[in-house]
Amino acid sequence: MKRITVKVGSAVLTRQGGTLDVTRLSAIVDQIAILHKNGYEVILVSSGAVASGRGELHLGNTQELDTVGQRQLFSAVGQAKLINRYYDFFSEHHLHVGQVLTQKSDFDSPEHLRNMQTCMNVMLENGVIPVVNENDTVSVAELMFTDNDELSGLIARMMKVDTLIILSNIDGLYDGDPKAPGTNLIHKVLPGNQIEQYIQTEKTVVGRGGMQSKCTTALEVASSGIDVYIARGTRENVLTDLILSEARIPHTHFVRR
Ligand code: GLU
Repeated sequence: MKRITVKVGSAVLTRQGGTLDVTRLSAIVDQIAILHKNGYEVILVSSGAVASGRGELHLGNTQELDTVGQRQLFSAVGQAKLINRYYDFFSEHHLHVGQVLTQKSDFDSPEHLRNMQTCMNVMLENGVIPVVNENDTVSVAELMFTDNDELSGLIARMMKVDTLIILSNIDGLYDGDPKAPGTNLIHKVLPGNQIEQYIQTEKTVVGRGGMQSKCTTALEVASSGIDVYIARGTRENVLTDLILSEARIPHTHFVRR
């Protein structure tokens, strides 16, 4: 049995107007279901709570709410919507999902860490797919993960997975500005390779992470013995092509130490 963590970012799961892209979400679920049927244990780390809550509420004037309040409001509504969608789409494949909401301090306490491990192990043993997100309603400011890239790395290491796949809105790490002519995708990052000079600091408007945090997570996780792939979540069959077939789709592979 191979164990995988898949991280899907807000930029992959939302449409341009900020609403949840249910077609994309359903396509990702279909691929995870195929992996599951092929004997893989999958832990899904999914963003999109804040973005889908914002899209759902259509609040014209949110100025009275400070940014913490907005994030709490949107995530409270959006997480419910998000997990409902996952629940329904996985049910079509006769698969069950369970929600795991976590915050940074859970990883500092050995007791909380053990509780999370036990929870997710018992889910996996019973064929249930854990859908993990930060508990955005209660984690604020310094108690927050940098973003879900960091969370996915912590989950991957805690659950001793074989592979972490970070699905982004871009094919992987480029050796310069991806939009500039002559820039190339870096296919492999080997332990010890210097990549800092290639990392672009630009971020999408919907997600908190960016290539910087993806690469930081990828390097840390790879150095702890787990293969990490960054690939484009909007590419058709990205997960099944990466894991099951030899199809050479664009990606960046951070080779494990
Ligand atoms: N936890 C946030 C959400 O579900 C996403 C954080 C991030 O963008 O990494 O909306």
